[in-house]
Amino acid sequence: MLLTLKKDIIYGPVHSRRLGRSLGINILPGDKKACPFNCVYCQYGWTEYHTTRIDGSLCLPSVEEVKKALETALINLKEPPAFITFSGNGEPTLHPDFDAMVESIVSIRNLLAPAARTAILSNSALVWEKPIQVSLSKLDSRIMKLDCGSPLLFERYNQPCSGVDLDLITQGLEELEDVTIQALFASGETGNLNTQNIEEWIKRLKRIKPKAVQLYTLDRDYPDKTLEHANDEELSNIKSQVLQASFPAEVYSRL
Ligand code: SF4
Repeated sequence: MLLTLKKDIIYGPVHSRRLGRSLGINILPGDKKACPFNCVYCQYGWTEYHTTRIDGSLCLPSVEEVKKALETALINLKEPPAFITFSGNGEPTLHPDFDAMVESIVSIRNLLAPAARTAILSNSALVWEKPIQVSLSKLDSRIMKLDCGSPLLFERYNQPCSGVDLDLITQGLEELEDVTIQALFASGETGNLNTQNIEEWIKRLKRIKPKAVQLYTLDRDYPDKTLEHANDEELSNIKSQVLQASFPAEVYSRL
């Protein structure tokens, strides 16, 4: 079964394999996935609102609403979360007030949960835009998607909106400090698990110089039924190649 969308602004804390106890923030609509990608493996199903710019037709939470929701959640939690994480129903950087959201979340964290770290799970689609880079750099942790090295495969696997370009994404990630790369590998007709793609992907990692690389495969349901999950050996093999390129890497095995 596909994952249901997050109805509320705050969800969790969830136990995340990569972040530990993480309080999620969804700044996208509660009834639609809004994303510049339409990944063949997306646990929420196909993208309903496929865009690089959100217009007034979507009902988005305001900075004030997000601020109040986070304050209430933190006040009511018995113990603070390890992370406060922008994630949710699509790509958080699409929100037109993303920078104000970041500033607001950081100041509430400082006040109510100073030991918690702030993070984002982003698909990197807009990372080449300077204002987005500035906002991302205000967070403690940037976990940015890069699944493909080959532009052709990127079109097939992540199905970006027109104008979203793998070379621009790579350049944007190169310009960002302290980036953690997240990559989902899957085999099958539309999968990204092939030698040539992995070689090209490693070349991009060498340009980006990530501080860590997170590797995983399909865990939940996914819309493209021709896909198959990568096995442990395949993921360890990719991990060895990343380590050989001198970047720390971790495999997050299936649930
Ligand atoms: S980037 Fe994330 S939310 Fe968007 S389609 Fe891909 S997996 Fe789904």
